[in-house]
Amino acid sequence: MNLTIDELHKLYASGDAKPSEITQAVLDRIEQTNDRLNTFLTINKEAALHRAAEADADIKDAVQTKPLAGIPVAVKDNMCTTGIRTTCGSRILGNYIPPYTATAVAKLEAAGAILVGKTNLDEFAMGSSNENSAFGPVRNPVNEGYVPGGSSGGSAVAVAADLSSVSLGSDTGGSIRQPASFCGVVGMKPTYGRVSRYGLVAFASSLDQIGPFGKNVKDVARTLGVIAGRDRYDSTSSNEVVPDYVNALTGDVKGLRIGVPPECFGEGLDAEVKTSVEAAIKKLEERGAEVVEITLPHSKYVVAVYYLIATAEASSNLARFDGVRYGFRAEEARTLSEMYKQSRDQGFGAEVKRRIMLGTFALSSGYYDAYYEKAQRVRQMLCNDFAEAFQKCDLIATPTAPTPAFKLGEKVNDPLAMYLDDIFTVTINLVGVPAISVPCGVSSNGLPIGLQLIGNHFDEARILNAAYAHEN
Ligand code: GLN
Repeated sequence: MNLTIDELHKLYASGDAKPSEITQAVLDRIEQTNDRLNTFLTINKEAALHRAAEADADIKDAVQTKPLAGIPVAVKDNMCTTGIRTTCGSRILGNYIPPYTATAVAKLEAAGAILVGKTNLDEFAMGSSNENSAFGPVRNPVNEGYVPGGSSGGSAVAVAADLSSVSLGSDTGGSIRQPASFCGVVGMKPTYGRVSRYGLVAFASSLDQIGPFGKNVKDVARTLGVIAGRDRYDSTSSNEVVPDYVNALTGDVKGLRIGVPPECFGEGLDAEVKTSVEAAIKKLEERGAEVVEITLPHSKYVVAVYYLIATAEASSNLARFDGVRYGFRAEEARTLSEMYKQSRDQGFGAEVKRRIMLGTFALSSGYYDAYYEKAQRVRQMLCNDFAEAFQKCDLIATPTAPTPAFKLGEKVNDPLAMYLDDIFTVTINLVGVPAISVPCGVSSNGLPIGLQLIGNHFDEARILNAAYAHEN
């Protein structure tokens, strides 16, 4: 269960293991741990065992042709799966069974993967600790008193606790990278448009991207190669050719220019995080990379800009949950407008309501120019900062999060403190570039620390290779 894709494929090729045995073992482990960790909202037991039994027959050939043949995968529960409940961690979709499958998930399955279940998340992917799920928080397997990060906490834990080999999350402002960092696994947010968003329940459409978690960089590279590419069902997906990400992993970083922005190493950064990330950069330098100082002068605005744009888009996207079209409908309503109000009041949790109100306010006439439009202008300035930085460097290195995982309950009543945790991740979504989080150390109380490597648009191969060099 703790094996990587290559290691599992070796066992399959030699006949020492079969997909049905591995899948059964994984499902048993999920059942043993789920009461405690709360990783999965739906366990896809029968279907997974059925698919695994089918895979047994020709697995020796399949490992040659299908990149994820017989590999157990977990998917965040905001990606639609035909016939399998898709809740978004919300009461309002608590009984929603989609009639179609998200493209990224369909591609995993076409590559031979076995879907073992749908993972827990902050409601509608809004959060940084997984404590906003209507179905209870997920626990960090490294230390169960701590949060796993969010919003894709379940998908990070699925990989960290050996409940699947790889998993998919979605990242609107850090929701793959921050939980990867908190749980000690690798997680990547691809370039905006690299992976189809068809079937991903929208949070903030100009920021959302699906991406993989893995136990190592190679598994992430391989999974990204499977899910990336143009999709005619998502007009924002890119035509850019998908390179062979696994082949790009040479580990050679000679001459690679790594930009280090001082704005990301100042006040508010935990001392141990700082030391680990700086040591990781130093190691890359020893392997031939060149460190250059760059500046991201508008960094101090990123959290404000993100929380205006993300909430504005969310308030619009979440208007469709009205008790008519999907999921939950309040029972006791007597009129149409009561039905809308009560369904939304009872269906959404506190954080989602806070964001709908914030977003509606930012978009309202009279405030639009002062907030939403201004935020969009600063977003453009951030894009310019990055364009300029990438003239001087090939990659940018920062911490993934300012601290290691925090305790369950520590920040739930302080939304601003929670939002500040996203300071190094949200910029990447605003600018639309790709970034990876790779483990780079452990704090004195045993909690993982993540290094974030950021690339220019569609430069995933280069980030993956640098992460691979770091991992080695
Ligand atoms: N923590 C951020 C938020 O709450 C990011 C969430 C995400 O990437 N989905 O908005």
